[in-house]
Formats: sequence, structure tokens, C-alpha cells
Amino acid sequence: MGAVDLNHLPPPDRIEVAFAGRSNVGKSSLINALTRQNGLARASGEPGRTRELNFFNVDETGLRIVDLPGYGYAKAPKDVVEKWTRLTRAFLRGRVNLKRVYLLIDSRHGLKAVDEKIMDVFDEAAVSYQIVLTKTDKIKPPAVKRVSEEIRTAIMKRPAAFPRVSATSSSKTDGIDLLRAEIAELLPDFA
Ligand code: GDP
Repeated sequence: MGAVDLNHLPPPDRIEVAFAGRSNVGKSSLINALTRQNGLARASGEPGRTRELNFFNVDETGLRIVDLPGYGYAKAPKDVVEKWTRLTRAFLRGRVNLKRVYLLIDSRHGLKAVDEKIMDVFDEAAVSYQIVLTKTDKIKPPAVKRVSEEIRTAIMKRPAAFPRVSATSSSKTDGIDLLRAEIAELLPDFA
């Protein structure tokens, strides 16, 4: 299906889950690992250049994946974050079939101020979102545990945050089967 603008959204005929995160967080790699179809998720372009939404139907499941544009680096300029916020707010408005947003956080870096701003957008829109740590192969297991716990504490005060923090490595495929199974539970015909 590929890139679309806000005036040409697909009809709400499938359950959707969206993926969001800073540029280079490992979003394309995670979507590829989850769908087991290398090349399905578009490779990331130049940081900050991606503005549009990408949709991928996962055919055999009736699921649609929404790839939200990366929102810049830790110190992303204000206008980049504002543009992202406008696009995302407009997309989230009335998107009843969007069941969850997975907010990707690089396990080496933890939550940055810009991630907190993005969580504010999801909390205001009252869209259920879940933190997914990426690239856990780059740090040792105790460090993964530490950052997971830090984030779990940080999100406790956030109304729309799902209380679980998922840990994944797309290169080692750690946590991928579990996350895929959790996504499948969002589908209506899950048995
Ligand atoms: P995106 O910009 O968020 O879509 O990020 P990409 O999926 O393009 O990944 C950015 C960079 O991180 C690439 O060089 C990937 O190879 C690398 N990367 C992504 N996932 C992992 C991972 O789980 N482990 C490691 N070590 N590297 C990863």
C-alpha cells in the first residue's frame, strides 16, 4: 500500500497497530522482523525527511501496520517535533480501528525529552500505547532490566500508557515472537 497522505487514508476496515519512534531507533527492522518479510517495511530514508504515513496490510491476519514517520533525533528541532505532532494528531483523530501504538525506544538511550513529548500527544489523544525497547543485543541483560524498570516507573503516571515494557532485538530476534503474539491478541478473531 505504501505512503499515503491524510486525505487518502485507507478505510477503517482492518485493525491497525502503529509504530512510532525517533529516527534510527530500529523501527523498519522491527516491522520487518515482526512481519518476517524483509523489504516490506520501507528502509529508513534520510533522518527527518520522512513526513508521510506508511500502511502495510499483513494479509493473512487482517491486520494493518501503520508506520509513523520517525520524529528526529534526541535534540530534534522544535519545528520537526511540531510537524510530527500535527500529522500524528490528525491521523489519530477518530481512527477507531487503531488499537495500539508501539512507541520504540532505543534500549541504550532510554526515554529522552522528545519521547516524553510524543507520549504527551498519545496521552492527550487517549490512544493506547506501549513502550518497546529496541536493540537489546547492544547492552547486557541487567542493563535491559534497569532501563525497563526506569521506564515502567516513568509511565505509571501516564493515563494511556500500557503498563508493560517490551524488550526486543531485531537482529537477534529476541522478544519478537512474544510481541507478535501480543499484537495478534488485539485482533477480534484471536482464539
Ligand atoms: P529506523 O530509522 O527506525 O527505521 O531504523 P532502522 O530499522 O533502519 O535501523 C537503524 C539502524 O539500527 C540500522 O543500522 C540497523 O541495522 C540497526 N538496528 C536495527 N535494529 C537493531 C537491533 O535489534 N540490533 C542492532 N544491533 N542493530 C539494530
